[in-house]
Formats: sequence, C-alpha cells, structure tokens
Amino acid sequence: MRAIVMLQQRAAALEAEVEAHRQTERALLEQSTTLDAIHRLGQRLTAELDLQRLVQAVTDTATQVTGAEFGAFFYNVTNESGESYTLYALSGVPREAFAHLPMPRNTQVFGPTFRGEEIVRSDDIRTDPRYGKSPPHFGLPAGHPPVASYLAVPVISGGKPIGGLFFGHSRPGVFTERAERLVAGLAGQTAIAMDNATLYQHAQDAIRMRDDFLMAVSHDLRTPLTVVLAQAQAVHRRMLHSGQHDERILSGLESIQRRARTMAAVIDELSDTTRLEAGQELSLDRDELDLVVLVAELVAAHRISAERHTFTVRCDEGPLVGQFDGVRLSRVINNLLSNAVKYSPDGGPVEVRVGRETGTGGNWAIVSVADQGLGIPAGDLARIFDRFHRAGNASVRTTGTGIGLTTSKAIVEGHGGAISVHSVEGVGSTFTMRLPLPTERNA
Ligand code: ADP
Repeated sequence: MRAIVMLQQRAAALEAEVEAHRQTERALLEQSTTLDAIHRLGQRLTAELDLQRLVQAVTDTATQVTGAEFGAFFYNVTNESGESYTLYALSGVPREAFAHLPMPRNTQVFGPTFRGEEIVRSDDIRTDPRYGKSPPHFGLPAGHPPVASYLAVPVISGGKPIGGLFFGHSRPGVFTERAERLVAGLAGQTAIAMDNATLYQHAQDAIRMRDDFLMAVSHDLRTPLTVVLAQAQAVHRRMLHSGQHDERILSGLESIQRRARTMAAVIDELSDTTRLEAGQELSLDRDELDLVVLVAELVAAHRISAERHTFTVRCDEGPLVGQFDGVRLSRVINNLLSNAVKYSPDGGPVEVRVGRETGTGGNWAIVSVADQGLGIPAGDLARIFDRFHRAGNASVRTTGTGIGLTTSKAIVEGHGGAISVHSVEGVGSTFTMRLPLPTERNA
C-alpha cells in the first residue's frame, strides 16, 4: 500500500516537473517570438523612410509584444507651411472603430504622455484617480472599445515629445513591467527613425523646390538669350549684305554670337540635367540630320578656338542621315570635343572618326573622339558617366562640374544608342557613341 502511495506521489511530482518544463518552454518560446519581432522591427526602422509605414510597423510590433488588444500611435507632424497637426496609426482594431471618435486631448490621463513626462502603466485605468475627471467625456468617449489595462509611452526626440504609443486591453493586469521596458526601448528607436524619415522628406522637398526653381530660371534665361542671338545674327547679315565691312564690328558681332551659343548650350544642359534629376524624360526634338555634316561643322568651330590642338576628321562614309535631335547631339559632340581639349592641357592631336557599322543588331552610325591627354585612372572608369563624378587626375588641374557626360549619356540613350569610353591614364581617351540609323528598307 505504502509503495503505491509512494509511486503516486512520485508520479505527481514528475507530472509537476513536466508542467514546469512546459511552462519554461512556453515562456522561452514567447520570449524568442518577441525578440524576433523586435529584431525584425529594428531592421525595418533603419531602412524605412516613409513616416506612415514606419509608425504603422512600430504600432503593430508594439501591440504584438505587449499582448494588447489594440494599440495606437498618435504623432505630430509639421507640414510645408510650418503648421503642426496630429496623425495616428492603429493596430488590432479596424480604423473605422476609431474614425468617429475624437482625437485624444491633454486630459489628466493622456497629458503626461503628450507632454513627454512619464510612462503610464495601469493594471486597471478605471481605478486610477486621474481617470474620468476631464470633460466632456469623463472617461472613455461613447463607442470606444473597453479599456482596463492601460500602457502609454511618450516618444521623445531631442528632448521634445513628438508623439505617444498607447495600448489597451479589456482585461485588467495584462501589461507587465517587461512589456513596459520593451515599449520604452522601441519608443527610443522609433524617435530616431522618425527623425530620419522627416529629414529625408524635407530633403526631398528641398530638391523638388530646387528643380522647380532651376527649370524656371533656365526658361527665363533662355528666352531673352534667343532674342539676343537672333538680333546679332540679323545685324551681322545686314552688315554683310550692305557691303559695310568694318572688321571690328563684324568680329564683335561674331564674338557675341559665339558666346551667346555657348551660354545657350550651358542653360540647355542645366535644363536637361534638372529634368533628368526630377525623373522626367527628355523629349527629343527629332528631325532628319546628316551626322557627317554636323560633325564637320562642330569640329571646324573647335579648330578656331583651340589653337594648340590639331583636329583631324576621318570619315569614309557618305551621308549618315537619321532622325536625330540636332541641338542635343551638337551638345554631346561639343562636350566630347571640348573635354578632349580640356583634358590634354599640353595640346596635341584630337582625332574624330565618323563611320557606319552594319550587323545583325541593325545599322549604326559611329562617332568617336580620341585624344592623347591625361587619360582616366582605371579606378574612375566605371563611374565616369555618373552625375558629378570627376576623375582624381582631372579635378586638381581643371575646372568642371561632372555633369556633361551624364547628360550626354542620357541624350544618346534617348536616341536608342550607347556611349562608351576606352582610356588609359597618361596615354589618352577615346569616347565612342553609336546611334541607330534607319535600315535600308526604312531609309
Ligand atoms: P566636367 O568635364 O565638367 O568635369 P564631364 O561630365 O564632361 O564633366 O566629365 C566627367 C569627368 O570625366 C571629367 O571630370 C574627367 O575626369 C573625365 N573626362 C571626361 N573626358 C575626358 C577626357 N577626354 N580625358 C580625360 N578625362 C576625361
């Protein structure tokens, strides 16, 4: 008999031990799920720059790890005109459940959170002396989901409260001290992530404003310049026809036209760059154009201004006619020619080739510009078409912006072509562009 009792006692003890193990196992599992959720949120917070998505992720995770029935994150934002207003994210309840409810105000219960003073955690908020004291609702407004357990954590950035995380449960005694510590930690991380997202948003707004401004300025500068150029051309023509050959005046008029064209090209480049930066496409103004003639004209103009360089044009082709944006392609070719001059500071040959390539990929016009100047260091080659990138050997010796090649690439690609470079530092560079020509049937 005693043996049976002993066995029963032993069995009960073993059962209790198994139950204790199970409980530990459950607690460990719960802990690891919580840590996992917080870890995932941490990763998300460092990458998320959209404020609304960010606060939603925080509210969801915090509601999950506290065991709340529902959670809300009320946060302050400032719009472009400096006005401040409150937005919110919800978790655990549909948005409609809160849609008709008033925004929480600085009542005795909410006040400490909105003022960033302290965390409020209550096993049953209905028994808190501060509860039910503020008009007009004196407690929860009608239609609010029931709340017994209550946890509210202020979110503070740079010493200033920027919002508050609120959690509720209809059962008393749900929120533990551990839950409070977890949410306090999350609130700190959230404040940093919200600051990042806000700064990013402000930077984006500033970029948009800059682009709008640059587009307006380019337009306002371009219009009078076009008039100046047209007037100078007209006077020049009239003087030539009238037989008045005052060399000083004629060369002055030519100089005005040259400089006005250079300025127009700079403004056009600025305008294209701004457009590309703003994510807009360049709308090409295509017309029938012979590349052989265009290249010859542009090289002739460079011959006059770059006296220490010798230009040769090699062209074994007849006309290379396609549908091209002449103004923009002139800018690309001029950019390659002036770079060849600029980056051969000791002078030297600049060789321009114009040719045709016919293969399975279609019919291509090839234009290349080769110099024997500084060349491009191997480490810079991969980024040479990137915006604002200037090679180390160039930036110390010459001035420039590092945007010419970027817009050139966009223009050539806009035509369905490609641009590439072959360069060896100290030996020279060859830039080659390929532009599609009509196939024989389309020609
Ligand atoms: P920028 O000449 O105003 O700097 P670009 O976009 O035209 O801008 O050129 C980008 C960079 O590419 C230059 O800063 C220079 O480092 C390099 N580069 C361009 N053309 C040449 C060339 N012909 N020889 C050597 N380096 C060149």
